Amino acid sequence: MTRNPAFHPPADADARRAVTPVICYPVETLPKPDMALYLGARDGVRKVDEVLVPPRDARCFRVPAGHFFRITSVDGPQVGDLNLWRADDLGERFYSGKTRALHGSHVSTGDRLWSGLPWLRPMATIVADTLEWYGIDEFGGAVHDVIGTRCDPYTGNLLSGTQYHHCCHSNLTRALAEMTGLSLLDAEPHVHDVLNVFMCTGFTRETGQYFMKASPVRPGDFIEFFAEIDLLGALSACPGGDCGAEHSSDSAPCFPLLVEVFAPAPGALDGWASPEVNRYDRSHGV
Ligand SMILES: [Zn+2]
Repeated sequence: MTRNPAFHPPADADARRAVTPVICYPVETLPKPDMALYLGARDGVRKVDEVLVPPRDARCFRVPAGHFFRITSVDGPQVGDLNLWRADDLGERFYSGKTRALHGSHVSTGDRLWSGLPWLRPMATIVADTLEWYGIDEFGGAVHDVIGTRCDPYTGNLLSGTQYHHCCHSNLTRALAEMTGLSLLDAEPHVHDVLNVFMCTGFTRETGQYFMKASPVRPGDFIEFFAEIDLLGALSACPGGDCGAEHSSDSAPCFPLLVEVFAPAPGALDGWASPEVNRYDRSHGV
């Protein structure tokens, strides 16, 4: 953003600024999740797996389609960086940019996490979020953003010449390599922009800069998802802890995050099927 413009504003600058915005992607025609079905299936679930993600590290987990997974804050306020892939094809992965374009900068109950092109279908639907009360605060901050990318050692090196190895990018890379057997170099390109679970972020009104502030999450808070397709997930417990100060060092207090996977009650999802891939014909006008 230019802070000292080289060009003078035109005579009608105020009028141009006063134009009413329109929503880029009205979502009235988006296929709606059947929340009643999901919430019904959520009653009587059975826990089938759990993974405790250590602080400043990441772990992978698998969630079959039609199952639920819950991420819970334990021991202290902690932010998590979430990656999702289709279980049998890492090419289909969470597309935070389009999720943001469709649902807004922060997501909560009823919003969906979409996969990239050419699939562009829901990978997961948020069915519960104990922080949905937070809304948008006086600074423009909100929880669970799809605007941040993930903390990474390259940006740290760019800004301050550091070699820090426990940024979320590296944590996710190690976890994916360990789960899949890929080398670190082969696993790294599959790591992608995240859902910032429990992170409180926004953009400053004055400069448009991405800001973070201490997360309002407390032990016991959770966000829960319905898996629309077979998923491989990876969650990093960010070295920023509650992300109230910094996120690319060992200085912030950090806590584990718990991932639990639940199977629905038998028969609870009768008639339900995973969403189909996008129907664009892919001829691109040729
Ligand atoms: Zn991080």
